[in-house]
Amino acid sequence: MSIIIEPIPFYETNYAWLVVGKTNKAIVIDPGDANPIMKTLNEKKLLLQVILITHFHNDHIGGVRTLKNTFGCQVIGPLKEADKIGVLDVKVGDKDLLDFDGLGLGQAEVICTPGHTLGSICYYLPKFRMLFTGDTVFSLGCGRLFEGTYLQMFNSLQKLASYPDDTNIYCAHEYTLDNGRFAETLPTRNDLLKERMAEVIYERQNNRPTLPISLSVEKQTNPFLMAKTLELFTALRKAKDHF
Ligand SMILES: [Zn+2]
Repeated sequence: MSIIIEPIPFYETNYAWLVVGKTNKAIVIDPGDANPIMKTLNEKKLLLQVILITHFHNDHIGGVRTLKNTFGCQVIGPLKEADKIGVLDVKVGDKDLLDFDGLGLGQAEVICTPGHTLGSICYYLPKFRMLFTGDTVFSLGCGRLFEGTYLQMFNSLQKLASYPDDTNIYCAHEYTLDNGRFAETLPTRNDLLKERMAEVIYERQNNRPTLPISLSVEKQTNPFLMAKTLELFTALRKAKDHF
C-alpha cells in the first residue's frame, strides 16, 4: 500500500489534507469542517490518528472537537495560539520535530511563519518533501496579513523558499486561479506562468485541485516569493488587497 495524500474540499475554497502512510491510520491537516472528513475516513476505512493545525482561524479548526470526540485523536498545533485553539494535546514551536515513523511518514518539522496570524506554523515532512503551508503560501499568492507585519510575512516566505526545490506545497485554499489573474498583470509574468495558468484553468474547469505544486515552479511564478526586497513585497501585498 503506498502513501495517500489528497485534499478534502469544504466550504467555498478550503482544503483539509489527508495523509496516510502504510497503515490505516490517518493524519488530517486543518479540518475546518468535520463532516466531509468523517465521510472520507469512513469511505476509505481509515482511523484518524493525528490532527495538525496551522493556525487558529475557524475554517481550519472548526471540525477539531467533533473529530477528537469521535476518534480520540491527538491534536497538534501552534504553541502561540494554544489559548485561542483550546483543544491542543501537543503545542509546537519553530524547529520542533514530530515523529510519525509509526505511521510510515517519518518526521515532521515545524516551521514558524508569522504574518497571516502571529502564531501561524507550517509542517514539513522531509521523507516525502511535503510542505503544508496553511494560509501562509498559496499557489501564485500568499495569505493576507490579519495580524503580522509585512516584514514578518516577507521573512516567512523567504524561509519557506529555502526548502528543497522538489518540495511540494499543500496549501489550505484553492485560490490559484484568482492569484494567477493578479500575477498575470505584473512585470514578473513569464512563459512558465502562462503554462501554469493554462493548466490551472483546465483543472478548475474539471473541478479538480490545482495543488500540490512544486516549490520550484512557485519560486519562478509566484510574485510574492519572487519579491526580493521588503519594499517590493509590501507594494505587492497592498496591490493584491485591492485587486
Ligand atoms: Zn486563515
